[in-house]
Amino acid sequence: MKERPLRCWAEIDGSALRHNLAVVRSRVPQETKLIAVVKANAYGHGLVPVAKELVLGGADVLGVSNVEEAAELRAAGMTTTPILLLSACLPGEFRQAIECRAWPTISTYEEARRLNGVAEKAGTRVSAHFKIDTGMGRLGLWGADAVKELKRAERLPALNIGAVCTHFSSADEDPERTEEQWAELLRWRPHFADKALHVANSAALWRRTIYACSYVRVGLALYGLPPMPFLRRLLRPVMSWKTRITLLRHLPAGRTVSYGATYLLRKAQRLATLAVGYGDGYARALSNRAQVLVRSNRCRIRGRVTMDQTVVDVTSAGGCKVGDEVVLLGSQGDQIIHADELAKIAGTISYEIVTSVGVRVPRVYR
Ligand code: PLP
Repeated sequence: MKERPLRCWAEIDGSALRHNLAVVRSRVPQETKLIAVVKANAYGHGLVPVAKELVLGGADVLGVSNVEEAAELRAAGMTTTPILLLSACLPGEFRQAIECRAWPTISTYEEARRLNGVAEKAGTRVSAHFKIDTGMGRLGLWGADAVKELKRAERLPALNIGAVCTHFSSADEDPERTEEQWAELLRWRPHFADKALHVANSAALWRRTIYACSYVRVGLALYGLPPMPFLRRLLRPVMSWKTRITLLRHLPAGRTVSYGATYLLRKAQRLATLAVGYGDGYARALSNRAQVLVRSNRCRIRGRVTMDQTVVDVTSAGGCKVGDEVVLLGSQGDQIIHADELAKIAGTISYEIVTSVGVRVPRVYR
């Protein structure tokens, strides 16, 4: 039986992932361990296949958001790679964190005490990383308060603080602010000089190699999405997002397209309806503005993106046919649409473009 064609899918390029991993590795000092950040379904690329490829390629630790993601990795047979939980755990999640041998990130004595209690009850010891706030303002306490709580946490019998960490708020856009956060961390460093340390995300890693410390926590660059424009020439995008033309029509001048009739045809046009919409994660904010690739031509969206279907002007795209492949993200011929291009139009960042690719979009690994 002939296989049914996919309507809308994301292709994940394993060789690009391996390439980016090698680029990241070459930037990281040899003694530094790599925490490959695979939270949020590996930034939309598919948690388990991507995590397996990264570990095979030499990632030392996997960084996820929460215990559910950690449990999914363990259930998929990834039983030996250390896993760091980057978000704060709910109190009721510590037991599962211990069960799947994940390291929670904690940042207060209260969390440490609870985690220690759960470990004692389970008759085991648990490792955790301790976060200090230096300006991100999301997790952690500042300076002396943080050190005080860390010191108390260190005395808990069933808890091992494996590392101290902080997170930069603006590594991609503000080197001075990043440097101030680094200086703030160094100010308190003598109080935990014996501990492993980590601070750097993708952008920070390319700001200054000194930020690499004991571990780096890298996500974006692994997926080939440059945190700063100059990195575009080093990295290869891992995800291509594609759909197909489901219908072609010639419409006369005067007709309007899609909800709200926001697009009025000023002249006759050839319009293609595509099998993608915001139900697949293709943002409604792209309406009337973003372009797609059809037969290596850039074709503009006309009217509003709807839940399942989107209309584009293919007047310039010569002999395109129903069923033709259309590129939403990625390359076709000599044309390429980067996640940054869509992000700019949608008023967001490349992270959100790729993590928004919906659950009904199958990932195809190549
Ligand atoms: N560390 C933490 C705490 C994060 O939240 C993230 C991502 O959001 C990362 C590291 C990875 O950052 P990036 O994807 O910019 O490399």
